[in-house]
Amino acid sequence: MSGETETPQSPSVERHPGIGPRHWARLEGWGMAVHSLGYLHQPTTVEEIRAVFDTARETGKPVALRGGGRSYGDASIGEDSIVLDVSRMNRILAWDPSTGIVEAEPGVTLEQLWRKIIGDGWWPAVVSGTMYTTLAGCAAMNIHGKNNFRVGTFGDQVLDFDLMLPSGEVLTCSRDENAELFHAAISGFGMLGCFTRFRLKTKKVHSGLVRVEAFDTHSIGEMADELDARAGRADYLVGWIDCLARGRAFGRGIVHQANYLHEGEDPNPANSLTQAAQDLPARLFGVMPKSMMWMFIKPFINDIGTRFINATKFHSGKLQPQGHTYLQSHAAFAFLLDYVPNWKLAYRPGGLIQYQAFLTHDTAVAGHEKLVRMAQEAGLPPYLGVFKKHRPDPFLLTHALDGFSLALDFRVTKRNRDRLWKLAEQMDEVVLDHGGKFYFAKDATLHSEILRRYLPEGALDKFIELKHRCDPDNVLQTNLSRRLLSAYLEG
Ligand SMILES: Cc1cc2nc3c(=O)[nH]c(=O)nc-3n(C[C@H](O)[C@H](O)[C@H](O)COP(=O)(O)OP(=O)(O)OC[C@H]3O[C@@H](n4cnc5c(N)ncnc54)[C@H](O)[C@@H]3O)c2cc1C
Repeated sequence: MSGETETPQSPSVERHPGIGPRHWARLEGWGMAVHSLGYLHQPTTVEEIRAVFDTARETGKPVALRGGGRSYGDASIGEDSIVLDVSRMNRILAWDPSTGIVEAEPGVTLEQLWRKIIGDGWWPAVVSGTMYTTLAGCAAMNIHGKNNFRVGTFGDQVLDFDLMLPSGEVLTCSRDENAELFHAAISGFGMLGCFTRFRLKTKKVHSGLVRVEAFDTHSIGEMADELDARAGRADYLVGWIDCLARGRAFGRGIVHQANYLHEGEDPNPANSLTQAAQDLPARLFGVMPKSMMWMFIKPFINDIGTRFINATKFHSGKLQPQGHTYLQSHAAFAFLLDYVPNWKLAYRPGGLIQYQAFLTHDTAVAGHEKLVRMAQEAGLPPYLGVFKKHRPDPFLLTHALDGFSLALDFRVTKRNRDRLWKLAEQMDEVVLDHGGKFYFAKDATLHSEILRRYLPEGALDKFIELKHRCDPDNVLQTNLSRRLLSAYLEG
């Protein structure tokens, strides 16, 4: 179950067995800054999913789909809705180590997937910065990894899927069959139907290790140039930007490039390709349980503390020769954000939001610089900034484009909340001026009219047409869709 607590009594008790008190749950967006009260259902079979849609019809309640609950904002919560959480529908149905093709239920997490396939020399081709996302959530948001510039998004790895419409009808979708729906449900943030099965390809690897090279950069422009220059020879690229640095230090950061090892490079692949070799250590320095680490981070989650941490991180990088390399497991490189379990708790009580803007290649440097300066000048500096290179893909509402994104983490407090939302609104205008895009998986602040302004010509109309066709009664809703899509569905 993902982020649930029991809630007090509600007047709608006993109206229907499917929305009784045992289903009540308070669910949060992963960043803890938004939450909702709904009726949680966790089906384990396709028939149980169908029964949830029956309940929705009988009670008139909308259905919010939910996977691992790792979207930062309100994408997988639904106020006064039935929350259909697929995280218990998590069986791997078939695995073929000769082709790397896997067939699985929607609630399978990236962790389950890599654990299943690593021993045979395969790795999920596209992963998020956390391994606790589900296949359904990854497809619905069409997530990207640190290799987006190279292999595309999650959707690019999907061969086919089954989608249950709110009517109970199940459609198989692929690039050849129901192709329009295939390209719209991937990126369609759970608005067209419920994924009930996937078939996807994975990546052959000859070692459980990647070779990582780290080097510092001194401006966002330099970082973008480095990512461009290395794109042809790197398998993964990711930049960290110190968003508290000002003056001559503004935009400084560290880039990590990782490459797969070629066949024969790892003297002992049988060892590195075990689950144990990929497991993130449970203790820091072999002593402190990492589950307690967030408490030590908490005192630094303020401007002074993060300025200190960032400066220490940047300068300690300089103790190593520029461009030094080392070997790291796939999991350690890919899931850096899982290293400290529950680090988000350090952002309590207000939580955090992430603002990830995607800007086109030519406008990205000036645009991202402007966004960081605006945040600094507003007295709301982001405590984390992550820079990535992207490429376009064929999915209808995709965030990906030929350019760069910068994901900015903002602490939310009672005092800064209104100012932060106002800042986000001002930043939206900069993103639009630079021809940029937004990403629903991270969003908590966008207004509905922005959709029409940033989505490519015709994309929104096409999506609304599909929504009317697949879900004519608008059963599928989340807090995010009510904020962004409702105005278009009503209009
Ligand atoms: C620490 C951290 C790091 C992250 N790193 C990255 C990153 O590197 N790259 C990136 O792209 N994203 C990243 N994310 C965001 C994350 O990958 C996405 O939000 C992803 O969608 C979460 O998957 P989930 O299974 O938790 O889905 P949820 O958050 O539960 O749901 C996501 C969407 O999927 C829909 N959905 C859920 N189940 C179904 C279903 N069965 N059928 C149809 N729709 C469904 C929901 O309605 C919702 O719109 C990160 C998030 C965190 C917390």
